[in-house]
Amino acid sequence: MVVVSAPEYHPSVVSDAAERREQLKQVYLEASACTRCALAETRTTVVFGAGNADADLMFVGEAPGANEDKQGLPFVGQAGRLLDKLLGEIGLERADVFIANVLKCRPPGNRDPRPQEIESCRDYLHRQVDLIEPRVICTLGNFSTKLLRGDPTGISRLHGQPEVHVLGHRAVRLYPIYHPAAALYTPSMLETLRADFARLPELLATDPPPQPEALEAVPEIEPEPTPEPEAAEAPVPGEPMEPEPSPDQLGLF
Ligand code: URA
Repeated sequence: MVVVSAPEYHPSVVSDAAERREQLKQVYLEASACTRCALAETRTTVVFGAGNADADLMFVGEAPGANEDKQGLPFVGQAGRLLDKLLGEIGLERADVFIANVLKCRPPGNRDPRPQEIESCRDYLHRQVDLIEPRVICTLGNFSTKLLRGDPTGISRLHGQPEVHVLGHRAVRLYPIYHPAAALYTPSMLETLRADFARLPELLATDPPPQPEALEAVPEIEPEPTPEPEAAEAPVPGEPMEPEPSPDQLGLF
């Protein structure tokens, strides 16, 4: 019998990489069925994020676009290819990092995320950070930088300047950088982005920030009650069946 442990969200309970990955899968399965906001009605796939559950480095973009929505993976278009290239230039690949977005579902027509959507999704990102325990989080572009810093200062003033912030339960070094999509067509921005990338190895080698004292006192978050599984509906002849979400789609390594 395979026993799947219940999700635990307190960082101190994450003891090793295998457990971390298991718990991340549970969050993935929960997110895959999410109906907390109206994007559930328009998305094709929940784009949970992908990469190494034990990564020291995380990237956080804005929201999935059309390609990501189709494939269920973050940054699969041109911006993603640039991200891969820049990672390669500092000796890293996707398998070394974890890539996610503030929103896990695509806003129709790539419109700006709305406050209720951001609020509904916040907990998933916090739980990802709690479990992965990255040392550094690169916020990609204005949107995720403003949101994760909780301040309206724009990316052009902040890029390349690390600072410690508490996200959920974890203190992490936020490292704002330009969004690769913005750098695609602006050579000067690309050079700035490349230079900011070049500082990442040094930043990753810096001691991790001290965790907030309050961490010890943080009460365990009550996991949401798991809804009773509904009786499987008989497939309607001629209608395609919804594929079951599989943690293998996580692209975890
Ligand atoms: N832009 C983002 O911010 N995220 C993606 O996943 C793709 C493009």
